[in-house]
Amino acid sequence: MKRELRETLERQVRGRVLSGEPLAQYTSFGIGGPADVMIVPEGVEDVQAALTFCRDEGIAYILLGGGSNLLVRDGGFRGMVLNLGGVFTHLHVEGRRVWSGTGVRLSRLVAFCSKGALAGVESLAGIPGTVGGAVKGNAGAFGGSIADHLAEVRLVTPQGNQQALSRDQMEFSYRRSSLPEGCVVVEAAFDLEPGDPVRIRRRVSENLIQRNRGQPVEWRSAGSVFKNPPGEYAGRLVEKSGLKGMRIGSACISPKHGNFIINLGGATAADVLALIDLITHRVREEMHVELELEVQVVGED
Ligand SMILES: Cc1cc2nc3c(=O)[nH]c(=O)nc-3n(C[C@H](O)[C@H](O)[C@H](O)COP(=O)(O)OP(=O)(O)OC[C@H]3O[C@@H](n4cnc5c(N)ncnc54)[C@H](O)[C@@H]3O)c2cc1C
Repeated sequence: MKRELRETLERQVRGRVLSGEPLAQYTSFGIGGPADVMIVPEGVEDVQAALTFCRDEGIAYILLGGGSNLLVRDGGFRGMVLNLGGVFTHLHVEGRRVWSGTGVRLSRLVAFCSKGALAGVESLAGIPGTVGGAVKGNAGAFGGSIADHLAEVRLVTPQGNQQALSRDQMEFSYRRSSLPEGCVVVEAAFDLEPGDPVRIRRRVSENLIQRNRGQPVEWRSAGSVFKNPPGEYAGRLVEKSGLKGMRIGSACISPKHGNFIINLGGATAADVLALIDLITHRVREEMHVELELEVQVVGED
């Protein structure tokens, strides 16, 4: 980004402005080249100012929450990365309604609700990342998803305007939401059920145990690479294709779970993309199923 543009940005947006920041350190994969510019905003007005700046200057931007569903290519991102992982971290309760900033980690939301004897988000226990990323992609597990108890969200539109949406103004399906691409969710409200704290805690720990048993949580990854096709499990298709354990460079299809690609240390996005390509082709040819990516691939080669 040109010096004058960067100076304008620094005048208009409170918070940190970083140049050439390597994105690998912000993703659960530990992979990704540098961002031209990264903004860590301080508040909603700064998100509005940053998005208005991008619109006026014709600069591309992407949003980064916890970076646990992202594969950033090795060339990094030409444009602005709005880092929302450390802002909007407030969390409070009004009766049965929990208000959460979208920079709150899901693990913290689950612990907060569990402590407050409020039931409904236990199935999210162990999913990495932030409330914002989870709402955008309707994260879920064990038959539940974040949309189940979502009551409303507050967001900033790509045009830089603040907007509130109630639950009936949004649609959610499997790992999908109708929230407009490029909008920044800053707050979410959940309506939960009063519950027995002991049972809530038990459900949370059972989910964590099951997750740790079935997933290669000891390795860096971005979770499930592919969405499950209707009536099937992507992991089972990969297993049937005989590709489990296959390695390219330092990336490997987890021997423990076929839908996870893990970084053995020093893997590149090119390694991971080559494995994704291999799986996609093999499953298409042998099982006639078209796999759809769950992981979001961003940036340049
Ligand atoms: C070990 C492991 C296990 C996982 N298990 C599960 C699972 O069981 N179920 C599941 O659903 N996922 C799972 N995931 C994937 C991931 O944790 C979720 O998709 C998570 O919700 C992503 O949140 P994030 O904050 O990390 O988002 P990021 O990866 O940072 O971003 C993901 C998307 O959300 C958008 N986004 C982020 N923040 C905001 C915001 N504030 N406003 C608007 N858009 C935003 C980004 O633009 C991007 O498009 C797993 C990942 C790992 C590494």
